[in-house]
Amino acid sequence: MKELNVEIAVLGSGPGGYTAAFRAADLLKKPGQVALIERYPDLGGVCLNIGCIPSKTLLHVSETIRSTEKLKTKGLSWDNPVIDLAQLRAHKKAVVGQLTSGLSALAKARQVNVLQGTGILNDPHSLIVTPRDGEPTKIIFKKLILAVGSRPIKLPFLPTDSRIVDSTGALNLPFIPKKMLVIGGGIIGMEMASIYSALGSKITIVELGSQLIPSADEDIVKPLVKFAQQHYESILMQTKVKNVIAKKEGLLVSFEGVDAPKESVNYDMILSAVGRRPNGDLIGLEKAGLRLNQRGFIEVDDQQRTVVEHIFAIGDCASDPMLAHKAIPEGKVAAEVACGLPSAFLGRLISSVAYTDPEIAWVGQTERQLKKDNIPYEKSVFPWAANGRSLALGRQDGLTKLLFDPKTKHILGAGIAGPHAGDLIAEITLAIEMGCVAEDLALTIHPHPTLSETIAQSCEAFEGTITDLMPMHR
Ligand code: NAD
Repeated sequence: MKELNVEIAVLGSGPGGYTAAFRAADLLKKPGQVALIERYPDLGGVCLNIGCIPSKTLLHVSETIRSTEKLKTKGLSWDNPVIDLAQLRAHKKAVVGQLTSGLSALAKARQVNVLQGTGILNDPHSLIVTPRDGEPTKIIFKKLILAVGSRPIKLPFLPTDSRIVDSTGALNLPFIPKKMLVIGGGIIGMEMASIYSALGSKITIVELGSQLIPSADEDIVKPLVKFAQQHYESILMQTKVKNVIAKKEGLLVSFEGVDAPKESVNYDMILSAVGRRPNGDLIGLEKAGLRLNQRGFIEVDDQQRTVVEHIFAIGDCASDPMLAHKAIPEGKVAAEVACGLPSAFLGRLISSVAYTDPEIAWVGQTERQLKKDNIPYEKSVFPWAANGRSLALGRQDGLTKLLFDPKTKHILGAGIAGPHAGDLIAEITLAIEMGCVAEDLALTIHPHPTLSETIAQSCEAFEGTITDLMPMHR
């Protein structure tokens, strides 16, 4: 077996893993002393190859279809779009390819040793990397950063059938089903429903809980629910799939629960999107003296260090939320600590975004959490129907909600529904991080006419200084 000695090995090349490897290489300044191990041919992990980037590429296409539809009643009309699936797939592949080849160039410029193959721990100081073809390599490391990500949860009763897909399968755009069932009304389910609905599928969502996107506040999700009610065939809440029979002519599904149809229903495609589970169980952790906690995560401290001092874990395999923008700063911290710097992951705020139509974004404490914890708060909601830019976009359905500490006027949390909510939430995240009070945002001059004004307007409404709404009696 070949052997490679390195200072730092990083297992997994998703956003957390490649960030950790690049930061470590920049700090070490020793060519070839960082190894980045990836089982798939391209760097970038789920996010770049089969997750965030391909889904956002397709969501842009679906948004374009929807916005041109809306203009039909406003003096501009086109024929219905002709969808060339092969070209759409090629476009998505090109976007992904541009990013992954960019990553390879960044790795090369830093002289990071990229190895393709599946890595399994061998002992606390080595792992074996087995490529699909060819000889395995034993990597002996001084420090190791585990960045092995997560995988979709599989519902055990679903039969194996090419028409039953997870998010990866759905993003491959195998065909446009006439009728599609989406199991799970969380972020992935609602994003994929947006895409397939715009492409022409009749969508049914089946959700176990009592709210779509259950982790966000109900009022923020309301515009999305309204959109889904208008555009989807049905939304079955507090309901689950009982059984699926794969027949040649379709997938026959029976349901149970509050909104369950009495008779079984036929679908052409089923997307299962009921959550993800961490991949820490796939890498022989016990050989290095590590164990998973009850939830399947590799536990770490605020320096991303596991119980084994020279081994770190970051991203989806280390903790919730399973988001690239949490994995990236964790990767930097792990690399810096591994290189002897006194870093720690102190990001109090990790925003969430559902890139649906309308987009939903939230950060900090939700109203539900504040109520549950008996934390006093005041709320200010600015309806986008009173924002000029929103009306110019033909969107009146959005809202910007801010939650304040009634005594200090600090922002406790926020939620936004509407186009570009995911971009807008960054301002509030920074405001909370910087300890801003309502007045700071209200007095910050926002460009007019923009959607960003809704944040200042929401603060003005809280302060009682707003002139864009009816007079307020507080
Ligand atoms: P999720 O946890 O967001 O949603 C899963 C949904 O499925 C929940 O609403 C749950 O109540 C429901 N559910 C569970 N079991 C069910 C059943 N048997 N029948 C019907 N409904 C059921 O999970 P997801 O949407 O699969 O996303 C997985 C992870 O990926 C999340 O951690 C998410 O943060 C991340 N992700 C994020 C983004 C983004 O940031 N835009 C995009 C995609 C994925």
